[in-house]
Amino acid sequence: MDRLLQGYRRFRAEIWPTAGARYETLADEGQRPETLLISCSDSRVDPQAVFGAKPGEMFVVRNVAGLVPPYQPDVGCHGTSAAIEYGVRVLGVSHIVVLGHAQCGGVRAVVEGAPPEARDFVEAWMAIAKPILRRPSNPDRRPNLVDHYESEILRLSLANLATFPWINEAVEAKRLQLHGFHFDIRTGAMSTLEGDEWVPVP
Ligand SMILES: [Zn+2]
Repeated sequence: MDRLLQGYRRFRAEIWPTAGARYETLADEGQRPETLLISCSDSRVDPQAVFGAKPGEMFVVRNVAGLVPPYQPDVGCHGTSAAIEYGVRVLGVSHIVVLGHAQCGGVRAVVEGAPPEARDFVEAWMAIAKPILRRPSNPDRRPNLVDHYESEILRLSLANLATFPWINEAVEAKRLQLHGFHFDIRTGAMSTLEGDEWVPVP
């Protein structure tokens, strides 16, 4: 914890003198982020660092595997869907980015089963992604930039976004665009989903 508090003191001493004005404007005027970003909670993947985003630019939702559940308005506690609804309907973002990554423990939990000590919630959460296990790997697409299951879970999240009626409506009206990205932790390189193919981001 000491390390984090040292970081905070550095932030106050070194960052705040120049960045403070931006925060004050955001406090006065409120947030108007252009992008809603959904990514994994993995500590090695830092969306703000990867995209060089400043405070106020991205409305961020992070969960295990960066997964989007299907549209299911009921009495359940849908934290991810609530954040998506707020970003799209209240903040009016014009882009939704789903950011997947290499070596994703959440994706592994879908393929191999949740770790035995994480069955209270992780198992049920990852069950959302079980449909990817029924999609066969396409050997013609090898070598691919992205692991098959990491790719499939990202495609599933993008498909699930389209089940939210107000997202679909905004996409059709061209007020909103959906994007898929994948971050390789070892190389720091990012790929993007263009149609059916992963292509390196130049
Ligand atoms: Zn992950």
